Amino acid sequence: MAVYPRRNLKRILIDPGHGGEDPGAIGPGGEREKELNWRYSLTLKWLLEKMGYEVGLTRWGDVNVPLGWRGKLARGYDIFLSLHFNAGGEEAEGAEVWYHEGSRKGKQLAMWVDIELKKLGKTRGVKKDTNRYRRGFCVLRVAEGQGVPSALLEVDFVSNPKVEKKVKAEEERMRRMQAVANGIDKFLKGG
Ligand SMILES: [Zn+2]
Repeated sequence: MAVYPRRNLKRILIDPGHGGEDPGAIGPGGEREKELNWRYSLTLKWLLEKMGYEVGLTRWGDVNVPLGWRGKLARGYDIFLSLHFNAGGEEAEGAEVWYHEGSRKGKQLAMWVDIELKKLGKTRGVKKDTNRYRRGFCVLRVAEGQGVPSALLEVDFVSNPKVEKKVKAEEERMRRMQAVANGIDKFLKGG
């Protein structure tokens, strides 16, 4: 009898924020959020695949996909994670993980990702997204509407010149995405 490697059948959809005509935030040194999101998403995809997960992306390369579509693509997946970089001044620093108001599983997912990121340094913690304010994340609302536990990760502040420089490095990208992959893995294993 052949012995097959154990496969983890859980499926994860990663959403690299922005793309195409929408660059997202732009750092003081010219780094564009859409490109950071893309590189970080590919690294995260690779790390999760090494763990045995099946991983999809909402966009391939430098194209923009409407937010509602990105959320709809989550149907049938076990997790939806939208990946962004933040903007908010030259001093701001640290990851934020957002979940949709009322989603118990989304909150757990966000908490696990935050716990693992905290092992690397201070974060700004888990944040609850509500539709009541300006900042309602459409992708989270749509993905959660399909029963898929979802979170939106703001990896760090590209508006901070020190951060902008640091996050361009490959080791930094690997370190941070390994932490995120560990958080997702713990959530999916019922941590
Ligand atoms: Zn963004």
